[in-house]
Amino acid sequence: MGRRKAHRTDRTGSGRDRTARLRQPGERRGSCGTMDPMNETDPVLDGAAARGMAELDAAVTGCRACPRLVAWREEVARERRAAFASWEYWGRPVPGFGPADARLLVIGLAPAAHGGNRTGRMFTGDRSGDVLYAALHAVGLASQATATYRDDGLALRGVRVTAPVHCAPPANKPTPAERATCRPWLLGELRLLRPHLRAVVVLGAFGWQSALPALAEAGWDVPRPRPAFGHGVRLDLGDLRVFGCYHVSQRNTFTGRLTPDMLLDVLGAARDAAGLAP
Ligand code: SF4
Repeated sequence: MGRRKAHRTDRTGSGRDRTARLRQPGERRGSCGTMDPMNETDPVLDGAAARGMAELDAAVTGCRACPRLVAWREEVARERRAAFASWEYWGRPVPGFGPADARLLVIGLAPAAHGGNRTGRMFTGDRSGDVLYAALHAVGLASQATATYRDDGLALRGVRVTAPVHCAPPANKPTPAERATCRPWLLGELRLLRPHLRAVVVLGAFGWQSALPALAEAGWDVPRPRPAFGHGVRLDLGDLRVFGCYHVSQRNTFTGRLTPDMLLDVLGAARDAAGLAP
């Protein structure tokens, strides 16, 4: 549970428009005219253009592009919740979790302050993760039903779990600007997954609003106008099926808006669409 100290220095702030295309691996810095008119470097774009998933995962953990989120994730890590006073919080961006050749991608919202921001793994250490990984285990895609810390032995089969915003936001609410700033990381992940990816489950409307433009930018033919989010919505994007699902938040699961059976139905269908049926 140790944490490293080094972070990359952000020189761009959060106001920069990163909605232009992602720099390709091997492309020279500054060659993307719309992004680097002054031949400056961009830590997010550079990192997200990683040649492999391990490289991308390592790069994202050093990102400091959103000042508000950097301040919040580090403040939470310093102050900690009483129940986790003995923990050394991760306090950094949380990378995606799962194999680099995943056929199914689950896209959430952002790490929780005392969940992923504490443990350093997506959906690990909070109630949302309890629900998600229990369901993934039930449909045969996770080696165990619980997710408590990074080295707890959990392994995913053919599925990767990520978020359109990699840092814990105050009140679980990233701003649209923060979502746009973080988008290159999702684009980079999609680019690396693309040869194998056959299904995506998007948890909640925020993830949906992030995922569809990113999928379009990554090369899939997403209809316009963009289909609205809803639980049970399914899109056919050629070689990719996209499934809408209510988020596994406590608010949804405690109130019964999202029941275990509803979640299992979506994950089971996505598993089959991805060719991961047992
Ligand atoms: S939310 Fe994304 S872009 Fe912003 S600091 Fe975290 S990893 Fe970087």
